[in-house]
Amino acid sequence: MFLNKIQRFERIEPLKLFEQKIKHQAPNTKQQTTNHKQQNLPTILAIESSCDETSAAVCRDGVILSNLIATQKVHEQYGGVVPELASRAHMQNIVPVVDVAIKNAGISLSDISAIAFTQSPGLIGSLLVGGQFAKSMALALNVPLISVHHMQAHVLANLIDEPRPDFPFLCLTVSGGHTQIVLCESPLKMKVIGETIDDAAGEAFDKTAKMLGLPYPGGPLVDKYAKLGDASRFKFPEPQIQGLDFSFSGLKTAILYFLNNAGTSNVFKEDFAVSAEERQLFIDNNLNDICASVQNRIVSILLNKLLKASKETGIKNICIAGGVSANSGLRNSFIEMGDKFKWNTFIPKFEYCTDNAAMIAITAYYKFLAGEFAGLSVTPSARAEWS
Ligand code: ADP
Ligand code: MG
Repeated sequence: MFLNKIQRFERIEPLKLFEQKIKHQAPNTKQQTTNHKQQNLPTILAIESSCDETSAAVCRDGVILSNLIATQKVHEQYGGVVPELASRAHMQNIVPVVDVAIKNAGISLSDISAIAFTQSPGLIGSLLVGGQFAKSMALALNVPLISVHHMQAHVLANLIDEPRPDFPFLCLTVSGGHTQIVLCESPLKMKVIGETIDDAAGEAFDKTAKMLGLPYPGGPLVDKYAKLGDASRFKFPEPQIQGLDFSFSGLKTAILYFLNNAGTSNVFKEDFAVSAEERQLFIDNNLNDICASVQNRIVSILLNKLLKASKETGIKNICIAGGVSANSGLRNSFIEMGDKFKWNTFIPKFEYCTDNAAMIAITAYYKFLAGEFAGLSVTPSARAEWS
């Protein structure tokens, strides 16, 4: 009986590897060479396992040689990530993902100078799988271990490819779990100057999608329907939060009442709810305009704070990062705002926006150069504080 259950689990999660075609330039002018061992170029194997993506990447002297990502489809049926299933899927995926990342990079185990892993924040079980694997490998190969903060890595994804921002720069990091404005003075010196006090921007997208009856993760679908809709059709409120912090929970409630009222003039009141059939009909007839209007408000909340941060700090090198930076509305409005206010704008390639080990590898590269290594006693942490 027990064995049956395990075997069933083994079958529900076939490994699907997303492999990225690599075409990168080095971050410095140093000539790249295949004889990297002789030149002692730092070669780092990085592992990312903070949530529901198992990823491994190899980086040599700041150049990404491979970046493999195994996504976990098992969560779709539950409408969100199930932590225990995520940990188990990481355990299944981690050996083949690391193996292919090493092979595709064209290196052997003896070329590896250090092993990096995501230490925090994330789901604790998922982090433990990547962390234990990284420690075991570092011990077996007798190479140093580098622990990486996932949010710092999202910011430094902007340093993977040309053009790279000059320091100091501001980065709006928008993901499923976080929304932050970070002031980055150097690769390893950064400070959070604004963040969400409740939901993250990605959650706002995903929860909107859920209310509209769209499958998880709904952010990309809201983006897709928004492209076909009129963003000025429905007006959602902008929260009045002091300073550079964000809030998305009021918007979420406004959308809920708006849908329950089928878009009547009493948009943000609870007591005018229509029947379930009327609500569904309203969504079916107006899906594109609702998505466009909600997306428009989420984007304006994000960019108004970013503009404020730029004005307050005087910094005009501005980046975005994290899964939500894949959103076409955000990307377009960010570029437009950049043109208007004469910013130098930077957006990482799509595959470096959502969770990936390449961003862990590039962060580890700078830590390697600074000699910032971790002992084998380092433990993963679910919490988001910067270390
Ligand atoms: P986390 O690190 O918190 O797991 P990621 O950086 O992987 O988050 O980003 C995942 C989030 O990005 C999800 O909330 C997802 O809905 C959102 N997302 C991805 N693509 C888009 C898009 N095109 N538009 C809006 N949101 C998106
Ligand atoms: Mg992330």
